[in-house]
Amino acid sequence: MKILVTGGAGYVGSHAVRELLKNGYEVVVYDNLSRGFQESLPKDVKFINGDLNNPELLEHVFNSNKFDAVIDFSGHLEVEESMRNPEKFYLNNVISLLNLLKAMHNHNVKTIVYSSSASVYGQPKEIPVSETHVNDTNNVYGETKAIAERMLKFFDNIYGIKSVSLRYFNAAGADSSGEIGEAHNPETHLIPIVFNTALGKRQHISIYGTDYQTKDGTTIRDYIHVKDLSQVHILAMERLLSEGKSNVFNVGTGKGYSVKEIVETARKITGNEIPTIIGSRRFGDPAELVAHVGKIKKELGWEPRYSDLKTIMETSWKWHKNHPAGYGKI
Ligand code: UDP
Repeated sequence: MKILVTGGAGYVGSHAVRELLKNGYEVVVYDNLSRGFQESLPKDVKFINGDLNNPELLEHVFNSNKFDAVIDFSGHLEVEESMRNPEKFYLNNVISLLNLLKAMHNHNVKTIVYSSSASVYGQPKEIPVSETHVNDTNNVYGETKAIAERMLKFFDNIYGIKSVSLRYFNAAGADSSGEIGEAHNPETHLIPIVFNTALGKRQHISIYGTDYQTKDGTTIRDYIHVKDLSQVHILAMERLLSEGKSNVFNVGTGKGYSVKEIVETARKITGNEIPTIIGSRRFGDPAELVAHVGKIKKELGWEPRYSDLKTIMETSWKWHKNHPAGYGKI
């Protein structure tokens, strides 16, 4: 079976490409390398350097390949940037998906797994937050994900394109080989920043707020190992291909860890001091974001296997220690 993986050179995408190949799928990666790294992909995988906002190229790719399904990891993800540059986010997270869905419709490809986000919930009114919680985001990034999910719903109603939207909680960790891992430019994510500080690439990590109503005053997140996240895309795709029922799932563990707990764990793993300073709250950050995972367990029969904090942090550390410059461009 041939799968188009858009945004496949990014952090989660590159891990999913490995899983797909391991499972015997033929993969075509389509990525404009604005955030991704070709070095994160196996040398023999078919790679197209392209933008989803280039409909002519997309048309050509769909003409030259008969895809059984699409997995979309493309798009931008920094909340703060989305509030400084909303146009970019609507263009790269909404218009791009529209182009992709148009191409799928034109070429009779009826299956897509989409990377959505827990940010659609905004400031959750209950923890753990379930899929039925109101979509109430306060930032453009979360809004683009909510629009995308609604667009997918209507492309199913009208054209019969079946989709699963996976609402990621905090993707973390790295492939156990240590060969690929998390690399963003600029890096805004907690765990890479903590390890970059351990490596001396940063003088300190700034904790964004210590006055939240949480056990230690810092924000709590549900960290999900990128390998678990990759595998759930394949499971969701296979289920879509066999049952053809669109759906939306939270993808998390149901357990939360505070920023201070993450820093403490990193200190133990690295043996380094990892200096912290107290910074102000970051716009858009809810105090606590932990997934209710009952639906995905029941309906997909999925359980995370690599997402205990120790495995997440150790695999991440292995990647950062062996690749202090990421893929060499940072
Ligand atoms: N965070 C922090 N300092 C940093 C980066 C992140 O205190 O330098 C906090 C942030 O406020 C959030 C948590 O760590 O509550 C996880 O942030 P990240 O950017 O990794 O993921 P997000 O939750 O924004 O998707």
